[in-house]
Amino acid sequence: MTIYYTIVFFLMGTVFGSFYNVVGYRIPKGESIVSPPSHCPKCNHKLTAWELIPILSYLFLGRKCSSCKVKISPFYAFFEFFTGILFGASYLLFGMSLELLIALVFLSTLVIVIISDYQTMIIADEVLLFGIVTISILLLFKGGFDLLLSSMISGFIAFFFMWAIKLFGDYVFKKEAMGGGDVKLMFLFGLYFGYEMALFAIFLSAFIGLPISLVILILKKDNVIPYGPFLSLAAMVITFLQLDIQKLGSLLNWW
Ligand SMILES: [Zn+2]
Repeated sequence: MTIYYTIVFFLMGTVFGSFYNVVGYRIPKGESIVSPPSHCPKCNHKLTAWELIPILSYLFLGRKCSSCKVKISPFYAFFEFFTGILFGASYLLFGMSLELLIALVFLSTLVIVIISDYQTMIIADEVLLFGIVTISILLLFKGGFDLLLSSMISGFIAFFFMWAIKLFGDYVFKKEAMGGGDVKLMFLFGLYFGYEMALFAIFLSAFIGLPISLVILILKKDNVIPYGPFLSLAAMVITFLQLDIQKLGSLLNWW
């Protein structure tokens, strides 16, 4: 049964991932997420049901628009697959539980953050607010008002820490070194896994970000690199390794 449900969650994830592509791309631009329906960006051809199947449509339609034959970016299919993996792995890790639901909301918010920050350099407030409000309600169900309050305090600690880093960075570099979205994202991290791991996520994101940034700098010669995706990837690592302050301590000792 575990395999059956893992596959179900994977498939569900690919469908949600398809939706997150739309959300991540349109919300920062202030566009509606329901209309117009998905279409080819070049010829406006409206996608039929057959062209909307996650991953498979991309693979079997020759990776191009069926109408004008323009090449479709593998970006969309990748995020459908990626979200599928996140959903399947979450089910394996948390089982059928409230924790699973909270993790899925958290990871979903991160996927949208990665897509929108990468595509538009913006982390939309609406997206973060959706994650924060939904997780807060679920925490209330999980551990009552006490858990919600301590999680909120953790969120604020992480938020103000990142804000201090931003102010320092802005001062040193004499320009906006970090977007406000990255600071607000830290509230979500603190809320979900506590301020200790939220602060560790900043540290971890630098390790993940450095090699990737170097490659982008060399290949694209583009010196504006969004930071939100690296923070989000770090948060995903922390979630799936279920890192906490104790585990981190013993990991450091072992090392
Ligand atoms: Zn087209």
